[in-house]
Amino acid sequence: MEILVVGGGPSGLTAAREAALIGAKVTLIEEDREIGKPDHCAGLISISGLRNILPNYEDVVINRIRKVRIFSPMGREYEISLREYKAVVVDRGKLDLKLMEMAERAGVKIITNTPYNPSLKYDIMINAEGVKARICRRFGLEIPKSLPAIQFDLELSDFERDAVEIYTGSIAPGFFAWLVPRYDHVRVGLASEENPKRLLMNFIEKRFKAKILRTLWGKVVIGGPVNKAFKEKVVSIGDAGGFTKPTTGGGIVFGCLIAKMAGKMAALGKLSDFDREWKRIYLKEFRRMLLAARIFRNMNYKELERVLEEINNSGLFEELTSYDMDFQGSAILRVATSKVAISTLVPFLRSLKAYILEKFL
Ligand SMILES: Cc1cc2nc3c(=O)[nH]c(=O)nc-3n(C[C@H](O)[C@H](O)[C@H](O)COP(=O)(O)OP(=O)(O)OC[C@H]3O[C@@H](n4cnc5c(N)ncnc54)[C@H](O)[C@@H]3O)c2cc1C
Repeated sequence: MEILVVGGGPSGLTAAREAALIGAKVTLIEEDREIGKPDHCAGLISISGLRNILPNYEDVVINRIRKVRIFSPMGREYEISLREYKAVVVDRGKLDLKLMEMAERAGVKIITNTPYNPSLKYDIMINAEGVKARICRRFGLEIPKSLPAIQFDLELSDFERDAVEIYTGSIAPGFFAWLVPRYDHVRVGLASEENPKRLLMNFIEKRFKAKILRTLWGKVVIGGPVNKAFKEKVVSIGDAGGFTKPTTGGGIVFGCLIAKMAGKMAALGKLSDFDREWKRIYLKEFRRMLLAARIFRNMNYKELERVLEEINNSGLFEELTSYDMDFQGSAILRVATSKVAISTLVPFLRSLKAYILEKFL
């Protein structure tokens, strides 16, 4: 069985390794000159998720996170302190390089500076191209929904290395903005349909007035997994298959979990069952996250202000910190069965209407 993996991000590298461990002949091509560059990610990841991807992960960790500050549309601040470190900020370049070493050790042949071309021979292709969607288009695979995003590395002299910030409201209509602490600076970003660069410049100007060290562009995948990731000899995984958390666009953990599954199934010649298998295990999680994300995006600022206040007043913020950061289904269910759910009823109905219009008209 000859497997071609297109894309040397975390999903492609993980799938390639898994397939090689089972004995398949695996070649991975990456169009950039080096694995791990350029970096477009904020690098925030749960410790439990990271451990699963990279058991010896200490070398790639920049900071440990113990605090989350959420800013409401009106600027009200909610600080949530976690009882223990649950998340870390990783150096994505280093993480990808570690995954590359693991893949090579398992026998994967990695070729950089090589984009996909039709002369390449394979029995199975694993499409881990990220959001670019060129392979998806060429092979008639579904393209996941994404939002344009931008990040600036900011020179800030005074920031807390263990705190992540989230800003809601007009700063990033339809999504949110974030601040993630890094080495000696912070990475501030947002995603939005509406001119993300202008929005971020305005935000930085108002809130930070700091020097911009670096600009990073990207697209966050937020629409949930595609319905059919496998077609004939090609399977889409990672961002290419929409396997990210629809609530945040975070895709490292689910990307790698699904990649392991795809790599194994490809090597065993069982990929035709791939869609059934990932849905059996993960579909419920994705559906709940998608529903929560839709409700959030269909709230007006007044409703969001009230919901955040109610979550805070009912002590739910603290309670929610004990839930899993990646498998968010249980936390979402907890909110849905609390008093707060009443305030989400109108946005829920609005999101339902938007969904029906999008799906059927
Ligand atoms: C602004 C931003 C912030 C983010 N922050 C976080 C975060 O904090 N935490 C988190 O978990 N996730 C985050 N994500 C999401 C995360 O970066 C992705 O989910 C993750 O990188 C997906 O991994 P992947 O392997 O599927 O794709 P990628 O990492 O995008 O890798 C795809 C690779 O394929 C290569 N490629 C593409 N086409 C071809 C081709 N034709 N031939 C050869 N090679 C090709 C590309 O060069 C690339 O190296 C963020 C995303 C963005 C945009």
